[in-house]
Amino acid sequence: MTYLAAADRYESFQPNSGTFRRCGRSGLDLPTVSLGLWHNFGDDKPLETQRAILRHAFDRGITHFDLANNYGPPYGSAESNFGTIFAQDFRPYRDELILSTKAGYDMWPGPYGQGGGSRKYLLASLDQSLARMGVDYVDIFYSHRFDPTTPLEETMGALDTAVRSGKALYAGISSYSGDRTREAARILRGLGTPLLIHQPSYSMLNRWIEEDLLDALEETGVGCIAFSPLAQGMLTSKYLDGVPAGSRATQGKSLSPDLLTDKTITHIRALNEMAAARNQSLAQMALAWALRDSRVTSVLVGASSVHQLDDNLGALDNLEFSTDELDRIDQHAVD
Ligand code: NDP
Repeated sequence: MTYLAAADRYESFQPNSGTFRRCGRSGLDLPTVSLGLWHNFGDDKPLETQRAILRHAFDRGITHFDLANNYGPPYGSAESNFGTIFAQDFRPYRDELILSTKAGYDMWPGPYGQGGGSRKYLLASLDQSLARMGVDYVDIFYSHRFDPTTPLEETMGALDTAVRSGKALYAGISSYSGDRTREAARILRGLGTPLLIHQPSYSMLNRWIEEDLLDALEETGVGCIAFSPLAQGMLTSKYLDGVPAGSRATQGKSLSPDLLTDKTITHIRALNEMAAARNQSLAQMALAWALRDSRVTSVLVGASSVHQLDDNLGALDNLEFSTDELDRIDQHAVD
């Protein structure tokens, strides 16, 4: 059936009450909760489930969908599946969407598709991504990871070319250290294409960005979109009583059940109790916590169902923490 986006999609997301945030010192607002297509959008998942999640996200005011060349499985399939759904459902809404993709990991055979940050790889990969997604441009094109074997000038030069050619509107980097971020921002500024955004991992169980990266982003005026803010599902009620069938931890992919140690489960249970005292689910508290620093522009969640997405969006109903709550959370929010 033809998709008509919900007429109240921005009302329900309350855009004027902090549910969109300005991305660094740019002119771009991002939704405080964005949706990532790393898992759950490959050929291993029914297209209709993918469609339902994407439609629901947009109906609830999520304007930003994040992809990468290698999301699947197989590689490329998340972009192709998104392209199919985009053509059928979202094309009329293109100007309401922020679409991102990335290149940095191995993609195709031979020396030019093995990942990294060469100009050859990045620009060829962007062309492939645009073809799979069926769009003329992405809003953000990322260098997916720092490549120590390629001069940073070459990688940033490729992002600059992507923007100048109109195939991307903004440049981003992912998982770069604070110092490398400063350097990348300096090079891009010199080229006349400001660095828009950094995409690092960040959650109650992974706090590395608090050491230096957030300071680097503030100095350089770059926004921050935090990936895996639910620690791939560990910061939800999902694993409190064991590993349920069908969950990511059973799929032999990125989340090893070995991470669910007794110590970690003890912390997660304590956090779950604090969330209940705030009348929130653990997922909601974990997202609100990641957003407590205004330098974090958006949290980038995954979802395997519409229900999970709704649960996560409930985080926006209570983003405030008392100092006492933050202190108590600190005792359990440990790497
Ligand atoms: P999350 O930490 O949000 O984990 C998502 C998973 O958690 C879901 O697939 C689901 O697991 C579970 N989950 C989500 N919400 C709930 C809920 N309310 N209740 C119970 N379980 C829930 O993020 P991801 O690790 O998926 O990463 C998000 C996005 O970040 C990616 O899609 C990608 O766009 C980006 N990313 C970027 C990286 C980079 O290098 N730049 C690396 C990794 C991610 P289940 O499937 O088991 O139901």
